[in-house]
Amino acid sequence: MPKKHLGQNFLYDQSVLSRIISSAELGQQDTVIEIGPGPGSLTRLLAKEVKKVLAIELDEELFRRLKAEFAGYPNVDLVHADALKFPFEDIGDFKVVANIPYYITTPIIFRLLEARKSLQTMTLTIQKEVAERIVASPGGRDYGVLSIMIQYYARAEMKFIIPKEAFSPVPKVDSAVVHMNILDTPSVVVKDEKAFFRLVKTAFSQRRKTLSNSLKSLGEDIRDKLIAARIDPQRRPETLSLEEFARLSDLL
Ligand code: SAH
Repeated sequence: MPKKHLGQNFLYDQSVLSRIISSAELGQQDTVIEIGPGPGSLTRLLAKEVKKVLAIELDEELFRRLKAEFAGYPNVDLVHADALKFPFEDIGDFKVVANIPYYITTPIIFRLLEARKSLQTMTLTIQKEVAERIVASPGGRDYGVLSIMIQYYARAEMKFIIPKEAFSPVPKVDSAVVHMNILDTPSVVVKDEKAFFRLVKTAFSQRRKTLSNSLKSLGEDIRDKLIAARIDPQRRPETLSLEEFARLSDLL
């Protein structure tokens, strides 16, 4: 019986699994971390493509089954652990390919971004609506804190949609595969990263308001600062590009 609280929705469709593998742009020299291998269908394909697969599974029962099944695979390492607590910093360069448990989608992405010095790419199967927020451009309803946090560190690309019926058991929502390529240097230059992210969060905490209103807490003279950054104070946060947020952040 799949465990709902562990986000267990398994993928067995070979054509979908192959498309995930091609989206990941893997090579024989790569080390891949898989989060939540489940029954190991993706793991098996990964093992053929790369030098080493390190698969982290939290469920004890699945972990034991995987151990037995992958005993004959010298390049597959199985770890029984919570991926949120795994020391990703300690294993050298790696890529992540995973159909992750959806209840940890944003925390695991942010945890992986903390290890960005060694992280090369992430190819993740996640809820479609989260994928849309990750790749969103300014101007739309999907564009927000998540889009900016990720696009600051990575080039994110939507690869394809997986209808919910492809999973077993069938989840409530459709999924999508997103490929994120970690940049050598962030996509915009800012003087103070913390201040930049604080500004973005403050701006979007009231996303329907104009910037001069939503950013009031950052100072009396926010209107002047916006004008100095060549940003119309009447605009709404969702219309600002990363460059504009960066420019404003440097002036504050
Ligand atoms: N990749 C498999 C399974 C996806 S379901 C497939 O595509 O078929 C998600 C998997 O993540 C389950 O096996 C679940 O037990 C595991 N999991 C849930 N929480 C986890 C965590 N915190 N760390 C590691 N694995 C986790």
